[in-house]
Amino acid sequence: MRILLIAGNWKMNKTPAEGVKLIKELKELTKNSKNVEIVVCPSFVALSDAADELKESKIKLGAQDMFWEKEGAYTGEVSAAMLKAVGCKYVIIGHSERRQHFNESNDNVNKKVIAALHNGLDPIVCVGERLEERESMKTMFVIENQIRKGLNGLNSDDMKKVTIAYEPVWAIGTGKNATPQQAQEIHYFIRGIIAEMFDKETAKKIRIIYGGSVKPDNISDLMLETDVDGALVGGASLKAEDFAKIADFGAKKN
Ligand code: PEP
Repeated sequence: MRILLIAGNWKMNKTPAEGVKLIKELKELTKNSKNVEIVVCPSFVALSDAADELKESKIKLGAQDMFWEKEGAYTGEVSAAMLKAVGCKYVIIGHSERRQHFNESNDNVNKKVIAALHNGLDPIVCVGERLEERESMKTMFVIENQIRKGLNGLNSDDMKKVTIAYEPVWAIGTGKNATPQQAQEIHYFIRGIIAEMFDKETAKKIRIIYGGSVKPDNISDLMLETDVDGALVGGASLKAEDFAKIADFGAKKN
């Protein structure tokens, strides 16, 4: 059975103090939640305070990005070892906003995934098509390319640590979420690619979560789909009540 994962991507929001306040509220609201793994991904500067607040909590910590090199003259960058040292378990890699605003390529994503795994971090690898790609029937081609290149060189043991987030770019922060059927179609397709690249067991076990305008009022329908194993939540993760409701609805699947 795949344990559901509900991860909150705070993006460039919340100071360290605001993050601690949000986590305090979230801890209280989710103290009885079961059958779901909850993750928060604050900005780099808020990670340390968030980690302190999360000690003894079931909620786990993730970062929103990292660089693949170990150390050195890379001004502004943060390494996987630094994230691990500050208490991160997860790291989001290849978010569409990184791909779009910072020209992140599939090759960059691959280097980051490998460096994350080498340092004991579990990568949440984001893939998704843009609107014009969907409209010109290129969705499957784009997704397959992102998956094959992003996960190149990994083995089935590595894959035990990997989560894939399907996030159609046209659904992120737009209020236009994919229908549960659209999400299921792509999640099923992704599982098929994983079976081809690795093996059936790996494909059965890997978590494929959905992201794109997930809210308390659309999570339950998404979770009814067989291949949807959780959600990566942006906007709605900034309000403790909304995020806790999403985690709760998600948990009802199991
Ligand atoms: C995201 O940032 O990964 C995301 C899905 O954002 P939103 O939920 O706001 O669409």
